[in-house]
Amino acid sequence: MIREITVKSVLNKKKQRDSWFLDDYTLNPYEGCSFNCQYCYVRGSKYGENMAETLAVKINACEVLDRQLAFRVKKDQRGIIALASATDPYIRIEEKLRMTEGFLKLILKHRFPVLMITKSDMIVRDLALLKEIDTAAIHAADLRDTFHRGTIVSFSFSTLDESIAATLEPGAPSPQKRLEAMQRCREAGLMTGVNCIPTLPFLSDSDEVLEHMIVSAKAHGAEYILIGGLTLFGDGPADSKTLYYKFLQRYSPAHIADYKRLYRIFHAPSPDYLHNLQTRAAQLCLKHGIRNQLV
Ligand code: SF4
Repeated sequence: MIREITVKSVLNKKKQRDSWFLDDYTLNPYEGCSFNCQYCYVRGSKYGENMAETLAVKINACEVLDRQLAFRVKKDQRGIIALASATDPYIRIEEKLRMTEGFLKLILKHRFPVLMITKSDMIVRDLALLKEIDTAAIHAADLRDTFHRGTIVSFSFSTLDESIAATLEPGAPSPQKRLEAMQRCREAGLMTGVNCIPTLPFLSDSDEVLEHMIVSAKAHGAEYILIGGLTLFGDGPADSKTLYYKFLQRYSPAHIADYKRLYRIFHAPSPDYLHNLQTRAAQLCLKHGIRNQLV
């Protein structure tokens, strides 16, 4: 039985617009995420090792969102809303509770632009709504003349390898299903692309594997591909670093020493590693004629 919580606020305004995703707001219908990715940064002591067990629905969120969006319109504070940032908008329970669908209806009512970030093919259920938002949305004043899409659909991947994905993202639909859903979104006329975030050091960051990701994404309708590194936080039993090392122990013990070197001091790989990853990603995107940024 999913926990029900009430909230006073559901729309979060960012201090500044996100430089990668261009969103000014984030919005999450659920607390926790049953996709349970082992590298997920939202886990830790609050949600525990199995986030499917501690999941909560923000039961009054639609009523609160309606008020908050009306207030932002009145203040002329429009901006792209990222749905979602700390859960997936299409976890399994969405099929029954339809919170994301309720949010999208309100986003359409108040004519905000939306950025959908998901690992799920359930998004095709909402294609009609997303298309309406695409044409109805009004952007923030500084984007109005340059950006004309009201809906962006970004599919998240860490790998296309089905066996790694099944272990590392145990509750999420398979990478192949995500690719097929992306194709459906593109065929419906929506702007779509891929966040290859996180790219997994030694497992999905070689030129060969990145190129396979780029070619597959493009073949399934992606207009852009964002490539970013893996962060690993904490040493507690439910923290992402602990769970990721458990995954490595099972899946690729030979790489544990490499990871210990790469994450020796910080929760992210060294600036040199990240620079090298970004440079190679940019070259490969150029080679295949696909943007490595949203616009
Ligand atoms: S889909 Fe996103 S929010 Fe959900 S567990 Fe995976 S990384 Fe975390």
